[in-house]
Amino acid sequence: MKKSWITVPENSDFPIQNIPFGIFSTPNRTARPCIAIGEQILDLLVIWENGFLSQFPFQKRDIDNCVLNGMMSHGKQVMSDLRKHIIDLLSDENTALCQHACCQDAFVKQEDANMHLPVHIGDYTDFYSSEDHARNVGIMFRDPAKALLPNWKHLPVGYHGRSSTIVPSGHPIHRPKGQTNTSDDSMPIFQETQQLDFELEMAFVTFQGKPMGQSISTAEAKDYIFGFVIFNDWSARDIQRWEYVPLGPFLAKNFASTISPWIVTLDALEEFHIPGPIQDPEVLPYLKYEGNYNVDIQLSVSIEPENAPATIVSESNYKYMYWNYAQQLAHHTVGGCAIRVGDMMASGTISGPNKGSFGSMLEIAWKGTQPIEMKDGSTRKFILNGDTVRMRAFAQGKDYRIGFGSCDGKITG
Ligand code: MN
Repeated sequence: MKKSWITVPENSDFPIQNIPFGIFSTPNRTARPCIAIGEQILDLLVIWENGFLSQFPFQKRDIDNCVLNGMMSHGKQVMSDLRKHIIDLLSDENTALCQHACCQDAFVKQEDANMHLPVHIGDYTDFYSSEDHARNVGIMFRDPAKALLPNWKHLPVGYHGRSSTIVPSGHPIHRPKGQTNTSDDSMPIFQETQQLDFELEMAFVTFQGKPMGQSISTAEAKDYIFGFVIFNDWSARDIQRWEYVPLGPFLAKNFASTISPWIVTLDALEEFHIPGPIQDPEVLPYLKYEGNYNVDIQLSVSIEPENAPATIVSESNYKYMYWNYAQQLAHHTVGGCAIRVGDMMASGTISGPNKGSFGSMLEIAWKGTQPIEMKDGSTRKFILNGDTVRMRAFAQGKDYRIGFGSCDGKITG
């Protein structure tokens, strides 16, 4: 197994097989591109200035930049080759970087760095592609006998969301205010949400797509996807229930979404691809695919109350998707919608078949009817002020794991 000359603790999210990309800063360094290895950050601007990336077409403005969009604008092949080159530089068989005069300056401890949004997110789309989640919601809010709406197994349902309020892990989250109404024939009231929830999701980040009017097939999807982050689609259920008809979520979702700061590349996840579910009824030709596009990524959510221990409230897996990411991208573009560098497309809440694997409090506490007990003795139907919601994700290999870091948000009230 390939090893690095940088120490990587056992069960680290960031072995040499991962090499995820992000944007960091310190008091002495402006925000700039980096990768994670073990407990360290490799500053890509420093190694570029010292000639270690000279074979790549990057300009200074691509790398001395507070987002990855400039580097990513060179496309999939360049970014794949860059990651391979960095793996080679960090390999214990290569001494070029570790013996270079810049080596000490090239690394920063992760604990000494601030992580930022990795990309300027142009457009954000949220899908609704987990069958267990869609069925649970359908049972709770509609007819249990017809939990899935007629279109659900024919297309990956989604909506266009709001990129302006996507924030990186650690950013405080305010409890939103809005209209709620307990029954359709009474007057609505304006108040803070009483039903603040998380949604456990994964999201992919795109490269520049084809020109407007053209579509990306399922077979081409991988060429346009850089990698994945954990995505918490914060939701206000009482606001959502009143506003969502007929056009879908609006203020119940647009107040905040939290992402993990590292983009784990599709290349690093390649070996964790597995077959998806049999799709019955048969899907239309443009949604058919060959090969494996479900990914075995273990997911967990914990809630940590203020000054109290965290309680794990969900353990799910990205493999539970009914519609995979290739189908999502193919559907998104089949009518000619253009995608751009840094667009973000989230999976939809990822629920598994069992209560322990549900991806939202709405389902875990079943609309508030089954509160869950926390380690400190308190109970939760939804998220309270002072709670930190922490999502984790990793793909487990034989000798290492490909991890995503943390996706944390604390409700400040
Ligand atoms: Mn969602």
